[in-house]
Amino acid sequence: MKTIRMRLILVYSAITIATLVVIAFFINGSINQLFEQYAKDRQKSQIEYIRNQIPELYQEESESFDIQGIEVAANAALQNGLIVHIQTMNQEIDWDINTHKNQECQLMLQHSENNMHSRYPNFVGGYTEEKYDFLYGDHKTGHVIIGYYGPYSLDDNELILINEINKILFLLGVIFLVLVVLLTVLISRSITYPITSAITVAGKIANGKYGTQIDQKSRNEETQNLIDAINDMSVKLQTEEKQKRQITADVAHELRTPLSNLQGNLEAMLDGIWEPNQEKLLSCHEEIIRLASIVQQMQVLYSLENRNEQLECESIDFSVLCRSLSVDFAMKLEAKQIRLTVYAKKGDIVWGDRYKIRQCMINLISNAIQYSDVGGEIELHISNDDQYTTILVKDHGVGIPADELPNLFERFYRVDKSRSTKTGGMGIGLSITKAIVERHGGMISVESTPGKGSTFIMTFPQKSEK
Ligand code: ADP
Repeated sequence: MKTIRMRLILVYSAITIATLVVIAFFINGSINQLFEQYAKDRQKSQIEYIRNQIPELYQEESESFDIQGIEVAANAALQNGLIVHIQTMNQEIDWDINTHKNQECQLMLQHSENNMHSRYPNFVGGYTEEKYDFLYGDHKTGHVIIGYYGPYSLDDNELILINEINKILFLLGVIFLVLVVLLTVLISRSITYPITSAITVAGKIANGKYGTQIDQKSRNEETQNLIDAINDMSVKLQTEEKQKRQITADVAHELRTPLSNLQGNLEAMLDGIWEPNQEKLLSCHEEIIRLASIVQQMQVLYSLENRNEQLECESIDFSVLCRSLSVDFAMKLEAKQIRLTVYAKKGDIVWGDRYKIRQCMINLISNAIQYSDVGGEIELHISNDDQYTTILVKDHGVGIPADELPNLFERFYRVDKSRSTKTGGMGIGLSITKAIVERHGGMISVESTPGKGSTFIMTFPQKSEK
């Protein structure tokens, strides 16, 4: 399989060569045309010159031609590829350079033919004659016959020039092609180098080296997007892996104590050290219920975080929800003489999954009751702006130290282990609450002052028209 780099080099080179061939074809055609026209014009003006020269060589006094002058003019014309033959009507003069210099004339014609065939191998040409009348003396007539290699021919200088131009054009073409290939190599390198790095890193990630990053930066948007996507994926996989290990460690840690208690108690009963009475069996049963509850809550958290369940969102009247919650919590509130005040009116709506929003409220209210002193007060608030619904659960209880706040929503996190164990907490309620809020596209935060109380703030997006 060909590499992208090789493909780019081949494609660019092919395009360049094709472009150069087309350009060369047109330039060559134009140059040939120009030179053809130039050679024809030159030949025409040389013929014109000799035609005008002949009558001027007539001498009035002696009523005869200056033969020497004619010879000089014809020799000069021969150098320019013209064979001159002069005849007067009265046969006074019949002078042909061919009879005087036949060999030179043949050589000149051969030379012109060689010139043309060296440049244009298929050129069709041959000896051509043109006849022009002229007047001299008292209106006496004569004619000059001019022969040459036609239809036209390039002289030595023109041939050198046209060949030089072609050489330069060919050289420019080669330089251009080399430059294009070099540039393609550089461009393809800049494209493929980050891709190669991405492939190497993707291979490492596939082998379990999560978190490996591609340091390469690309100037191409698509490649940079690919790099960013792989880097993101790598970090996410690393985080997930860390989370998985953490969950396993947390679960093992949380289950170890109740399990060993249970094991100890049962073994003591089996060994006859303890008598299996109602009270001891009840204690074992409670421990099992606690274990089952941890496992169940872990399952809830897992399915929330992995988006296994669909939310069934609807408009929930917050005041109605609070009224039903205050009924559910009536006994616990009563037991601690806590007042629950709802700051919501009928029609204050929160958009979400009824069962899950209720679960959030249960978690926060039961914490608020748990960490409030006897005779305390809990407030439930709701407010709406253009985009969000904000729900506050505020207590005036023990509060939370500032350095504990960042970890508060982590699973199994408890501010005071002994205090929570005593109160029966597992440190999982807030993780579930956070997962539910985030599953709704919302956010949760907490503000707290030790000794004064805590406020948990949940923000939910309102129902989008889309
Ligand atoms: P738990 O089951 O232990 O209550 P949570 O996840 O609900 O677990 O809470 C984690 C910890 O946060 C608790 O153990 C407690 O230390 C602290 N916490 C939660 N809510 C409050 C609150 N309203 N006032 C004081 N501390 C709180």
